Amino acid sequence: MNEMLNIDNNIIELVNNCEKEISAEFSKIDDIVMYNSTKVLNAFINNRVSTEHFNGTTGYGYGDIGREVIEKIYSEVLGAESSLVRSQFISGTHALTVCLFALLRPNDTLLSITGKPYDTLDEVIGIKDNASSLKSFGVNYEQIDLINDDFDYDKIKEVLTSKKIKVIEIQRSKGYSTRKSISIDLVEKVIKFIKEIDKDVIIMIDNCYCEFVSTKEPTEVGADVIVGSLIKNLGGGIAPNGGYIAGRSDLVSLASERLTVPGEGAEVGPTLGINKQLLQGLFMAPTVVGSALKTAILTSRVLEKLGYLVEPKYNEERVDIVQNIIFNNEEDLVKYCQGIQAASPIDSFAKPYPWEMPGYGDKVIMAAGTFTSGSSIELSCDGPIRPPYIAYQQGSLTYEYGKLGVMKAVSNLVND
Ligand SMILES: *Cc1c(COP(=O)(O)O)cnc(C)c1O
Repeated sequence: MNEMLNIDNNIIELVNNCEKEISAEFSKIDDIVMYNSTKVLNAFINNRVSTEHFNGTTGYGYGDIGREVIEKIYSEVLGAESSLVRSQFISGTHALTVCLFALLRPNDTLLSITGKPYDTLDEVIGIKDNASSLKSFGVNYEQIDLINDDFDYDKIKEVLTSKKIKVIEIQRSKGYSTRKSISIDLVEKVIKFIKEIDKDVIIMIDNCYCEFVSTKEPTEVGADVIVGSLIKNLGGGIAPNGGYIAGRSDLVSLASERLTVPGEGAEVGPTLGINKQLLQGLFMAPTVVGSALKTAILTSRVLEKLGYLVEPKYNEERVDIVQNIIFNNEEDLVKYCQGIQAASPIDSFAKPYPWEMPGYGDKVIMAAGTFTSGSSIELSCDGPIRPPYIAYQQGSLTYEYGKLGVMKAVSNLVND
C-alpha cells in the first residue's frame, strides 16, 4: 500500500495507531448508522417501492409516481408532513432561496438567530446588494449572534416581544465561520423557547451537512421546515444533483408554487430518469454519512497528534460531517488540500491553488476530486485564505478511501 500511494511507513503507522484509539467513537457511529438504516428501510417498505418507480417522466412531468414515492419516503424518514425533493433545485442555496421567497412577503422580517448565514445567501437576503434580493422586495432582515456557541435567549425574547417576526432561520452547520455547529438538542430547546413566546413564527432550518449525523432531524423536534442539498448527506453520493424542502404541508406547498408555478406546484417537474439514483442514494445515505463521520474522526485525531488545533476533537459529539483543522499558516493549509486532491479518484493529477471565487470575500483553495461536480459528501477539503487558515474537510463515500486521503494529505503536509 505504501509503495502504491507513495506514503511513508511512519505515517501509515501513525494513522493506524490513531485508528485504534478511536474505536469507541466508531462504535457510536455504527449505532447511529444502524438506527438511520432502519428508518430508511422501513420507509421503503411502508411505501411499497418497486422497479416501476424508477421510470421517470419528461416534459411537464405530470403523474410521476417515482417522484411521488421519493417525496413520501423523505417525509417519513425526516418526520415531516410533506416534502419536495427535486432536481430542479440547482443547489442547496437555491432550495434555501426558494424557501425564503416562498415564506416571506414585503414588510415581513426574517430573523437569523445563528449569526450571519452561509456566504452564498448574502445576495439572496440583501446583506450584499443585489437587485433581486429579498431586501429589494421590501423584506427586512435582522440577526442575533450566538454567544459561546449557544443561542442568545435574552436577545431572542427581546426581539420577539418587541416586533412581529415572520421567519426565524437557524443554520446548523458552521459554514466558513469559526463557531461550533448546532446540535439537535440545542435546536429542540430553542424551538420550545421561541414557540412559547410566539407560536406562529415559522422556524426554518438550514440542515445542510447534518442529516443522519444523529438519530433525529429538526422536523422531529418542532422545526416547521428544513432545507438541504442532495449532493451532500441525503444524496448518498449517488444523486446527481438536487435539493429538498421538508416540513409542514402548507409551507412545503408554498415552496412548490414558488419553485414551479402558482396553481401547479408539486404536480409538475419531470424527473428525467433520476428516480432510481435518488432512491438508491437515500438508501446508501446512512452508511455514507457514517463513512464521512469516521473519516472526520480519524482526521481529527491524526492532525491533533501532529500538533494542530482541530474542531471538533475526535471524542466530541458530532453535529455535521465537517472537520476543521486550524493550520495557522497558508502553506500548510495549501499542502494539506493538495494532498487530499492527490488521493482523489478524479483529477488526482490536478494541483489546486487558492483563487478568487465568485461569492466569497477572500481567496479560497478547494480540493474536490469528485465524481459529481461540487459534491461535498465525497471527500473534499477547502478553506478561505485568511487567518487562522482553517481547512474545512468533509465527506468520503467509504471510510477506506477517506483513510487513504488523510494519509496522503498528511504525507504531503510533512514531507515537502
Ligand atoms: C452547503 C451549504 C449550503 C448550500 O450550499 P450549496 O453549495 O449551494 O449547495 C448552505 N448552508 C450550509 C450550512 C451549507 O453547508
